[in-house]
Amino acid sequence: MDFGLSQELEMLRQSAREFAATRVAPLVERMEEDGKFPLELIPALGEEGYLGLTVPQNYDGLGMGYLARALVLEEIARVSCALAMALQVFHLGIEPVLAYGSEEQKAALLPPLARGERLATAAVTESGGGSDPTATQTRARREGDEWVLDGRKVFITNSHVADLFTVLARTGDDPPRFTAFLVEKDFPGFRPGREEHKVGMKGCNTGEVILDGCRVPADHVLGKEGDGLKVTLSAISEVGRSGMAACALGVLGAALEAATEYSRKRVLYGQPIARLEGIQWKLAQMSCDLEAARLLTYRACWLKDQGKRCDVEMAQAKLFATEAAIRGAKEAVDVFGGYGCMMEYPVQRYYRDAILLGPSAGTSDIMRVVIARALTR
Ligand SMILES: Cc1cc2nc3c(=O)[nH]c(=O)nc-3n(C[C@H](O)[C@H](O)[C@H](O)COP(=O)(O)OP(=O)(O)OC[C@H]3O[C@@H](n4cnc5c(N)ncnc54)[C@H](O)[C@@H]3O)c2cc1C
Repeated sequence: MDFGLSQELEMLRQSAREFAATRVAPLVERMEEDGKFPLELIPALGEEGYLGLTVPQNYDGLGMGYLARALVLEEIARVSCALAMALQVFHLGIEPVLAYGSEEQKAALLPPLARGERLATAAVTESGGGSDPTATQTRARREGDEWVLDGRKVFITNSHVADLFTVLARTGDDPPRFTAFLVEKDFPGFRPGREEHKVGMKGCNTGEVILDGCRVPADHVLGKEGDGLKVTLSAISEVGRSGMAACALGVLGAALEAATEYSRKRVLYGQPIARLEGIQWKLAQMSCDLEAARLLTYRACWLKDQGKRCDVEMAQAKLFATEAAIRGAKEAVDVFGGYGCMMEYPVQRYYRDAILLGPSAGTSDIMRVVIARALTR
């Protein structure tokens, strides 16, 4: 076993750390205040290759794969989980085209997505319940050379900034059939709905997507008609979940760093609180959780890079890493005492951001269902 990263991956991690410190950190305060996605960062993200990390080089991507992607997301999430979340869902939006797109679709869509000239997302969840995509009520009916889509998607990351949406719609009832469609924002009948006001990840746009008689050309079906659940759920389970796990690593790392530093400076009873065993136990637990979450996440991404099955490993990584981030961010708030509840200190942001890691790309309960199903199959 080799736990070391290649020189190439170490360099990528280092450059992502520098990018986060120099380009992202100065925007965080504004994002917290106005909640707006910093669109001006897109060209820089494109130039660095961070949008096309998983896109092959012949389509203008870096072609570095999913472990590389996790390292970049982790570094960006250490500074801004909101930006890392938006970035991870851009990758999630690209994934169904990579995995199921025809040659024509890939050649037309991937290069501008990898360069950051266009942005993608995946629109699956509906108000009837995200955990059960078979309850999807968005309908698509065929009319000549077009499909006509009607429905409403909720909680969609990048809903108001993306150009291309992979939309899951019902195309039959008995038996139920679902199909994935590539919907472009300027198609007639498409519009973003309301924007959500989340407790955290401020500056990452989340909202509704409305399809009101939306006309989609027949060549915009992704994969085969009737394969919609496979097309959308495989991307969510492998790319969405590893993305959330990587965001969790960043939040947990930042929380541990902040709590450690504060514990060295804060003096009680004539000594730094870092000397108190109760504080040390918290830091030690966070450190073990971070390492364990990293191992689970990196290994699951490595499996994906090897083209091996990794759905269960992705669920394990997502479950453990996101729950560890929520626990760790709460511990960091506690280490800061009353100051932890004040907006001037970043630990409250880590906690608010961490909570949102839970439901995205499937709740912890659903991760347990996936893992237990594999055990008892
Ligand atoms: C910040 C954020 C970003 C998101 N981005 C996107 C996006 O880009 N695209 C997209 O399509 N969706 C997105 N989502 C939606 C997300 O995938 C759903 O929130 C998630 O799947 C849960 O669905 P729900 O919120 O409807 O909860 P529900 O499905 O209604 O679940 C309610 C409760 O029931 C529990 N539950 C459900 N099934 C079981 C079970 N079998 N056993 C035990 N308990 C169960 C759940 O764990 C939860 O506690 C996002 C959500 C958030 C919060």
